[in-house]
Amino acid sequence: MNEADFYSAGRKAIMQLDFLGNLKRTHRCGEVRATDAGTTITLMGWVNRRRDHGNLIFIDLRDRSGVTQIVFDKERNPAMHERVEAFRNEYVLAVTGKVELRTEGTRNPKMATGEVEVIAGELKLLNESKLPPFFPGDSNVPLNEEVRLKYRYIDLRRPEMHANIEMRHRVTLAIRNYLAGEGFYEIETPYMTRSTPEGARDYLVPSRVHPGEFYALPQSPQIFKQLLMIGGMDRYFQIARCFRDEDLRADRQPEFTQIDLELTFPTEETIHGVVEGFLDAAFTAAGYTIERPFPQMAYDEAIRLYGIDKPDLRLPGMTEVKALLPPDAIETLLIDPALPVVAIRIPKVGELTRKERDEHKALLSEKQSATLKFYDDIKRLEKTWPEAIAKIRELSGTEEGDLLVLAAGPKKAEAAAVDANDAAAVRRSQRNAYAVYTTAGQLRLALGQRYAARHKAFEGKSFKFLWVTDFPSFEWNAEGGSWTFAHHPFTSLHEDHMGLLAEGVKALHDPNSPLGAIRARAYDVVLNGTELGSGSIRIHQQEVQAKIFEALGMNEEEQKERFGFFLEALQYGTPPHGGIALGLDRIVMILAGAANLREVIAFPKTAAATDLMMNAPTPVTDAQLKELSIAVKK
Ligand code: ASP
Repeated sequence: MNEADFYSAGRKAIMQLDFLGNLKRTHRCGEVRATDAGTTITLMGWVNRRRDHGNLIFIDLRDRSGVTQIVFDKERNPAMHERVEAFRNEYVLAVTGKVELRTEGTRNPKMATGEVEVIAGELKLLNESKLPPFFPGDSNVPLNEEVRLKYRYIDLRRPEMHANIEMRHRVTLAIRNYLAGEGFYEIETPYMTRSTPEGARDYLVPSRVHPGEFYALPQSPQIFKQLLMIGGMDRYFQIARCFRDEDLRADRQPEFTQIDLELTFPTEETIHGVVEGFLDAAFTAAGYTIERPFPQMAYDEAIRLYGIDKPDLRLPGMTEVKALLPPDAIETLLIDPALPVVAIRIPKVGELTRKERDEHKALLSEKQSATLKFYDDIKRLEKTWPEAIAKIRELSGTEEGDLLVLAAGPKKAEAAAVDANDAAAVRRSQRNAYAVYTTAGQLRLALGQRYAARHKAFEGKSFKFLWVTDFPSFEWNAEGGSWTFAHHPFTSLHEDHMGLLAEGVKALHDPNSPLGAIRARAYDVVLNGTELGSGSIRIHQQEVQAKIFEALGMNEEEQKERFGFFLEALQYGTPPHGGIALGLDRIVMILAGAANLREVIAFPKTAAATDLMMNAPTPVTDAQLKELSIAVKK
């Protein structure tokens, strides 16, 4: 009999389902212990597995806490035994029976309830089940993710999903409790609002009452939380859903959850202390200890040392070595003398074969190779420049067996010296240097991944936290030929960079504008090379806010149109304030050791932003469209 026939045979044999009535369960299925032996208990749950041994049928009954073995004995109760013959996996039962110690040799030390079994005395069949697309109890069978998402309610029955969702609950609760203890109020902010600029596209909700007008779902509660500070709420937090219409990646969801908070009268230290406090609470709740305080690094230093604004501290940083190379080396190796030369060290890689080194070339794209050239055959360089290489080894801390790679900008035909008095030329050369650092940083990460099995730095649970501070306020957008905000436009700049702002607004379409030199009072919290969250001290003075909007290319009219209400609010006694938001899904994913955000969200969307179970998005009826005064272009 195939599985489907077996199921329908079961269903045909079932005469009638029982009602729950007043029956109450006494234990969860994972809670029964040897100390319960001799007592009569009631369990309710799903048939995880059924083993028919003729006169004895064993059913592992499962709920979210685990399973307990139930025994149906033909001799003790032939009618019940006959009924159970027709039961299949995923049927829903209530069983009352006596707990007995299992006999010697049948105990299962791997199961929490493996010392005992329940001898069924009374039985209710609360529901049957169709043949499910997969069995939640089969932990070793590889599952197709699309099927899992389509039948999420069955997938959620799997112990792995229970563990993830339970972890999420525990971690969120720990964070809530911590923040409440620090004087934060949990306050909800609207979902139907107007656009909040976080750099993504908005999801829009059409208004029926106001034809042609739309609400935007919040990309973050940013403006509301600032208004709460203006409103004197002092400390706010929210486990907040945010909506961003972006191109999706494995670690993104169109709607996601932030631990969002804001404080009045803070310094950076106050905010960092709160975040470290709740992360400590969260990691402790998940069974891990973390080290505090987290180290700090300014953005410019992160770029120089790691070539990225979210350094992974589990591998060593890069070392500047240009000063150690003699002029003839720079000449012979065709290195651009105006650009940095860095040493990348990957520990414990061991000897590499010629072939392995050849394969390194493919780690950089064609475009990257135009920015960066690298030398991974250090022994060869050592033959010509033994002293320089010895010094580089020493400065970079390279030990026997470590991989050492030199990376530099390739020499251009017309490399002219930069005139230090020409501010624009200096900034241009800084941008070129930035490209060398960041490409070298990508090479460092690619090599780190490639030799992960050798250096083993990514194995085990090593949590390396870091604050990255002093981000640039503005980013050059080459396509648009203008400057955009790096964090969001409410971020305060360093007070002594106000002059640069005044100068910069005069050069809005120049990639070498002083705007590029402005540093923000913004900070990211980074864990093992992943950004967990960003925040900033905010602008609380109206004129400064208006200047920033101007720098972003918004004239007075546009400012009024988009942010008039906010610019007005800033004029009624706005206190200094600041905050941060961290991605909850990502934190739980890391703590659960999951490979994907979808594993820690009960009802996630696919990479194509669809819900396979609800089948969303869907077209709507013409009547609905008409009501909304919307016509869809076909
Ligand atoms: N609203 C910001 C974000 O979503 C966080 C913050 O600045 O507090 O990234």
